[in-house]
Amino acid sequence: MPEQETRSVLEFKPSAIHGLGAFAAAPIRAGTLVIEYAGERVSKAESTRRCETGNTSIFELDEDWDVDGNAGWNPARFLNHSCAPNCDAELIEGHIWIVARRDIAPGEELTFNYGYDWEDYRQHVCHCGAAACVGYIVAEEFFESFRARKPIGLPTS
Ligand SMILES: [Zn+2]
Repeated sequence: MPEQETRSVLEFKPSAIHGLGAFAAAPIRAGTLVIEYAGERVSKAESTRRCETGNTSIFELDEDWDVDGNAGWNPARFLNHSCAPNCDAELIEGHIWIVARRDIAPGEELTFNYGYDWEDYRQHVCHCGAAACVGYIVAEEFFESFRARKPIGLPTS
């Protein structure tokens, strides 16, 4: 695993998007593994149980395991969702890493797409402020349908 210099690179402070956010304290180059999305490794059954209690910090790891980012020391949970994110969440050797999509300048807030399914989209209104914001926190694969208002029941206003 690459050396983690997260603490000197990231600054956690109030964000215009939501709650606390993670901001670049120094330039971050595209492709940098910025921070691990750490947490408790839980079985699918346990993960389903926790999701039903409203835990929105669960990440799919593989077919058998998920990671609950709400449990334990995981400052990566402060990264906000954006419809035009500057980071991606990638699965690398069994760990979830937040990876810079592009060069990030000091002071920029770090964001990634939470990748939510669209089923419960109404509960997850997006305030990312991006010009291309689709209005809800959903995975990129659904953006086109959201913009075209295709899914049944989507608001038209
Ligand atoms: Zn948005």
